[in-house]
Amino acid sequence: MNKDNVAYNFSAGPSMLPRDVMERVAENLTSCAGTDRSILEMSHRSKEFEGIIRGAEADLREIMGIPDNYSVMFLQGGGTLQFSMIALNLMGKPGKADYVVTGEFDKKAAEEAAKFGDVRIAASSEDSAFTCIPDVKREDFRVDADYVHFTFNNTMHGTRYSYVPDAGDVPLVCDMSSHMLSEEVDVTRFGLIYAGAQKNFGASGLTVVVARNDLLGHAPADAPTYLNYKIHADSGSMYNTPPSFAIYMAGEMLKRIKRDGGLSAVGRTNREKAGKLYACIDGSGLFRCPVAARDRSLMNVVFVTGDEGTDRRFTSEAREIGLYNLEGHRSMGGMRASIYNAMPVEGVDRLIAFMKEFEGRNEKSR
Ligand code: PMP
Repeated sequence: MNKDNVAYNFSAGPSMLPRDVMERVAENLTSCAGTDRSILEMSHRSKEFEGIIRGAEADLREIMGIPDNYSVMFLQGGGTLQFSMIALNLMGKPGKADYVVTGEFDKKAAEEAAKFGDVRIAASSEDSAFTCIPDVKREDFRVDADYVHFTFNNTMHGTRYSYVPDAGDVPLVCDMSSHMLSEEVDVTRFGLIYAGAQKNFGASGLTVVVARNDLLGHAPADAPTYLNYKIHADSGSMYNTPPSFAIYMAGEMLKRIKRDGGLSAVGRTNREKAGKLYACIDGSGLFRCPVAARDRSLMNVVFVTGDEGTDRRFTSEAREIGLYNLEGHRSMGGMRASIYNAMPVEGVDRLIAFMKEFEGRNEKSR
């Protein structure tokens, strides 16, 4: 911890959570929703849990503006299971789908989907080491594709789309793992959105899928039951035991987003935090951001010094003063500061102050 006795966790996920939400959850852990039972021991068929899950769904619909012709599903298996569930449900047999590859997770998503049908890579930024987002136009996609898949924010590479791609009448499927609930989005632009809760809205173990109803009900008859979206949509995510604690936690995070003024206010704060941090990096003689300015992520800020030893010293000295998990992804090195919703402006200010102080000391020794 640092001199203010506050720890700031810059982990890419599971990530920092608001202190007040964790304290409330801790208080309620033994007696939840007005009962003398813990959420952990509560039947998912109880009326109390029914209130929790339906409340979380209603808040999510309100916050994101999800229309009635979309289903909300609370599932398990992470973004990773969605890579195949999407293809199984949306591609038909045999079907086709176009993927835009802007990071390692996109590659995995496309590889999984290729097990189910004809997958085409419509565009990729791999040649530029995923440091930018390619420009994609409607003509880049097959008009008879079952869907177009892209990842809004690339957690590992620190890039994000500054626009929603136009795929014409082909449904857009979006991996919003590290973007969902960080700013306003127009849900009606998408056929399907998915995200794990462990970055912006809670604990790991919960994956939220928001899907337009006309895209449901097309899984092959021999599809495993759990992998059929329609089963979950029709049963209100209660076909089997849902991840009840993670849903409860997400519900508390959604209430917090409402208290913070909704997604327009949350988005404003996120832009402020990221703006400050990039300004510090761009004004520095030691640190550098490899990502094209237009495509920089608001959630995962990637930077390097160009010297691995200095990077390591920076992250370990940061840890000593309570700035945790600033190491870049294990396959990329350098630094990454994940500044999801729960990272306060003060945490970013603290990081900036340390970067300046570290740079001053290293300038002298160079
Ligand atoms: N997509 C993105 C953009 C991610 O950041 C992650 C996880 N970090 C995944 C997919 C995979 O999600 P999960 O680990 O929940 O399976």
